[in-house]
Amino acid sequence: MPICLERQEKLLSPLLIRHPRDKLKEVRRVLVPSLIGVSVLILVIGWCLVRFLYPIPHPRPPFLRPSGMAPVAFTAFLQACHAAKVHPFRIFQTLGDAPRSKGYHLRDGTLNGEDYSAAVDLGVEDLSPHKRAELLEALGRVGFAAWYRSGPKWQNGEHVHAVYAGLPMKPQLQEQVRLWNRERGKSGRKALRWQKSWRRFWR
Ligand SMILES: [Zn+2]
Repeated sequence: MPICLERQEKLLSPLLIRHPRDKLKEVRRVLVPSLIGVSVLILVIGWCLVRFLYPIPHPRPPFLRPSGMAPVAFTAFLQACHAAKVHPFRIFQTLGDAPRSKGYHLRDGTLNGEDYSAAVDLGVEDLSPHKRAELLEALGRVGFAAWYRSGPKWQNGEHVHAVYAGLPMKPQLQEQVRLWNRERGKSGRKALRWQKSWRRFWR
């Protein structure tokens, strides 16, 4: 039976002598797409590397003093954040009446026509225990009586409660500052300068 012409051609094709121009064409056909692929890959890897080494700075909104926080307390708070090397975007209650705060954040006075509370609550869930301790110490140094609120009572609401001692304040907060003074004394740490004079602000 005669083999059909097409099949015959196929069988013989490897034996046929190719023209050099055809060979060049075939090399091009294989090489060009591979080169394009490799180039794209190099570009993508290069771009990722540059972005990793020089990340685009995330635009941050200007950090302004929240209402209900006295300017003097806000300045001290920024100093403490700077000293502890933590970002200051963590104030979530100044003057307020959150149920768990039980009135501790109600109005303490008025400064330049603006009501304030000497107490401030800070979110610290992003900080390690060590960093948190550093922030508490830094807050103490600039004039805050500050504690980390945790345990069953504060479950899912852990935060730092800080009272700026250099402001007139309600008796509830004065009691907290006294408590902080006593705790600091018991801890054996050296008294801070503001601890000796804080009462003059509200007497
Ligand atoms: Zn609080």
